[in-house]
Amino acid sequence: MPAPDAAVFARLSALAAIDNPRDTRSITEVFTGRVLGEVPVGTAADVASAAEDGRGAQAHWAARTPSERAAVLERFRALVVEHREFLMDVVQAETGKARWAAQEEIMGLMFAARYFARVAPKLLSPYQVPGAFPVLNRTTVHAKPKGVVAVIAPWNYPLVLSIGDAIPALLAGNAVLVKPDSQTPFSSLAAAELLYRAGLPRHLLAVVPGPGAVVGKAMVDTCDYLMFTGSSATGRKLAQQCGERLIGFSAELGGKNPMIVTRGANLDKAAKAAVRACFSNAGQLCISIERIYVQRSVADEFTDKFVAAVEAAKLGAAYDGSADIGSLISQDQLETVSKHVADATAKGAEVLTGGNPRPDIGPLFFEPTVLAEVTDEMDCGRNETFGPLVSIYPVDTVEEAIERANDTEYGLNASVWAQSKAEGERIGKQLRAGTVCVDEGYAPAWGSTAAPMGGMGISGVGRRHGPDGLLKFTEPQTVVVTRFLNLDPPPLVPQEVWQRVLMTLARGLRFLPGR
Ligand code: NAD
Repeated sequence: MPAPDAAVFARLSALAAIDNPRDTRSITEVFTGRVLGEVPVGTAADVASAAEDGRGAQAHWAARTPSERAAVLERFRALVVEHREFLMDVVQAETGKARWAAQEEIMGLMFAARYFARVAPKLLSPYQVPGAFPVLNRTTVHAKPKGVVAVIAPWNYPLVLSIGDAIPALLAGNAVLVKPDSQTPFSSLAAAELLYRAGLPRHLLAVVPGPGAVVGKAMVDTCDYLMFTGSSATGRKLAQQCGERLIGFSAELGGKNPMIVTRGANLDKAAKAAVRACFSNAGQLCISIERIYVQRSVADEFTDKFVAAVEAAKLGAAYDGSADIGSLISQDQLETVSKHVADATAKGAEVLTGGNPRPDIGPLFFEPTVLAEVTDEMDCGRNETFGPLVSIYPVDTVEEAIERANDTEYGLNASVWAQSKAEGERIGKQLRAGTVCVDEGYAPAWGSTAAPMGGMGISGVGRRHGPDGLLKFTEPQTVVVTRFLNLDPPPLVPQEVWQRVLMTLARGLRFLPGR
């Protein structure tokens, strides 16, 4: 099964919110290097124009009820299911990932549309809280949309980390500008096409492809809120830019995620799942595992099983489910991974399996690689590789495993395998990570859309998913209506007496519920 043809990519290109493009960029099929299509390259003026259109459309959209907005997203979800094979083809073509990693994106999109459409009407309803003084004040909190939200997305999960994050922002009543990564605009455009078909007014969602330093920067200069997913280095820069403008942002950043395997864990299951946990999307996944701490008494046995499972995994350039692991996305990625392996081996690391590019399969393939004897002095010791590279460290005790797992600036995801679920949970709660999966790698945490997902430390600010994943795209507004009496003393009551009455009332309020 080949990638979609040129006509399809031309159709998607035309959906970019760029009038009269001055420049285009060729997007290539990762498996082969051939050109899939041209995409227009946006400018700051395109962003300004899309933001202006968005602002116009947003007022009408926000005036619709949350249930009406949710109905559009429910229709979108049904279209995603109907067109899932097409979406996976597009995602695979521009990322080179395996089919099942593309399916993870489809499922993420479905879960996000369903969860946020279901909870939005309730979470966005105005609610009353106790007022300053009972009876006299009726205090209501409203969730107002931010206005125009910027979503800046990376290339690794280009569908779900762009349009998946636009979903809650749209449901909250905002217009959204999406900046896909320059290498992967078609995934966002393909999902945007389905949103328009589901009935989303065109100007509410604008996909503006282009360089981060131009289009991304212009979005942060123009929009009212930023949802960013990418590296911690870029996240820092953008946080400063948001700080200058005093606009809110949330950032989903990098990770150096640990797995802990203790004595008594089911080593067969752990070894098999670790292949998924480390090498999904060829390791180009923020929540994938790059460090494994295994208790010394079971370290050899676990390592043998893990290496055997890795060697059994099939690398392949296939648009069906026949390959377990796909390609890296770019020459840059191939160089980073190759350098990390070369640096580690030059400094004394041992390659237990893998370690080499595989041009025989495709220009950017690299073998899933397991290293031992890795130290902090090696590039891959403490830095995110973001590729198919994992290091195994034997440890003496569970406490040492926890301490070393936490010895990082990152804090995104962790995986724990122990002799019981309860022990796994006990260990998990001691880890400094935004999500922890007991007896799996990352997928159940990602798929628990009703729970917050994000990073501690330099892995992020704020959360996607869960109620906060929607409410962060709103401004709470408190409206207090004063009835019967305001704060002036009633007629004939001296100010001094009135003040004493208020103080007595204030002291008594503590006995009322909700105080
Ligand atoms: P990146 O930071 O280089 O780029 C991410 C996006 O930001 C791209 O669209 C890029 O064009 C844009 N950008 C870059 N510089 C910009 C600037 N100065 N102003 C505005 N926009 C700018 O990251 P990447 O290499 O695409 O992605 C890999 C990184 O993303 C890894 O560190 C990975 O861990 C992280 N990531 C995190 C999550 C998460 O949910 N926590 C998910 C996926 C990827």
